[in-house]
Amino acid sequence: MDSKIVQEHRFAVNLMQHLVVPTFVLDAACRVIIWNKACERLTGVPAAEVLGTQDHWRAFYDAPRPCLADLVVLGRTAEIAALYVDAELAGGQASDFHAANWCVMPRAGTELYLAIDAGPIYDEDGRLLAVVETLRDMTDHRRAQSALENLAARDGLTGVANRRSFDETLEGEWRRGRRDSQPLSLIMLDVDHFKHYNDAYGHQKGDECLRQVAAAMTEIVFRPGDLVARYGGEEFAVVLPGSDVEGAGVVARRIQQCLAGQAIPHELGVGGRVTLSMGVAAADPDAAGDCESLVAAADAALYRAKHRGRNCLVLATELD
Ligand code: GH3
Ligand code: MG
Ligand code: MG
Repeated sequence: MDSKIVQEHRFAVNLMQHLVVPTFVLDAACRVIIWNKACERLTGVPAAEVLGTQDHWRAFYDAPRPCLADLVVLGRTAEIAALYVDAELAGGQASDFHAANWCVMPRAGTELYLAIDAGPIYDEDGRLLAVVETLRDMTDHRRAQSALENLAARDGLTGVANRRSFDETLEGEWRRGRRDSQPLSLIMLDVDHFKHYNDAYGHQKGDECLRQVAAAMTEIVFRPGDLVARYGGEEFAVVLPGSDVEGAGVVARRIQQCLAGQAIPHELGVGGRVTLSMGVAAADPDAAGDCESLVAAADAALYRAKHRGRNCLVLATELD
């Protein structure tokens, strides 16, 4: 290289070293050729440890796996979607790749959500020279976003899922049940004589009672994928993917027993306690209909339970 090129090269490396954006560069053999100061600060890994090696993954993960830059070097960009929680092909320059991931950051000692960009550099003949990977710490932003999403999906009074979240979940599970040929069950619950409860003990006690009902439900329903929701007013719902009507009936009875165990006094209630009426229905994944028909079936069973004198459970199959 003539001296002008050498100078320019040094200048470029120097510039990158002092960039405030955490950046590292891999050569065409996936070896680290630049690991800038901001990258040292972000990862807690000094450049001297990784330069010339393929060990850069250790700065981010606790088990071997390719980083975004490796995938670009190796032409394995089809794997990005499977390896990152958020992946997107570049909008601006078609050759750049963007992704984001939760990284363990073993040396820094704190898990971070990193937004990652990787762009290849080619020589005049189109040969790959290097891939530049830049990182942005988006942890606070991601946490705030998750907290907001969680807030938007929760019922403010009881903390269980709200109606909107119920509708979305039921719709999603309905489609999934069809695809995987799995049953889907729904329990609809309604607090008995709740208007009287409010009248007798006041609205605040009423609110407290609804919280206790929700607590009894979440104590019993804990399987991942199941959903406890407030359907509206003093009516709740439980979505049980993979359960048939008998299985859902067992869950419903347990909720009833759990609430009975709390023995919340209700002067006009059945047996002087707050009780629940429940309707249970299951969707056969091969039958016609939609998820509204499942809600209607559980609702009809609940209506029947009210007419049977409350504090009871009716399976939709009993109505046939
Ligand atoms: P049933 O046994 O037939 O279900 O009778 P019910 O009195 O429970 O049913 P109804 O629909 O007549 O009354 C429901 C009551 O629930 C009326 C309403 O004021 C009360 N309610 C709805 N939402 C809330 C709430 O968020 N807090 C409180 N405290 N009460 C509520
Ligand atoms: Mg009621
Ligand atoms: Mg009601």
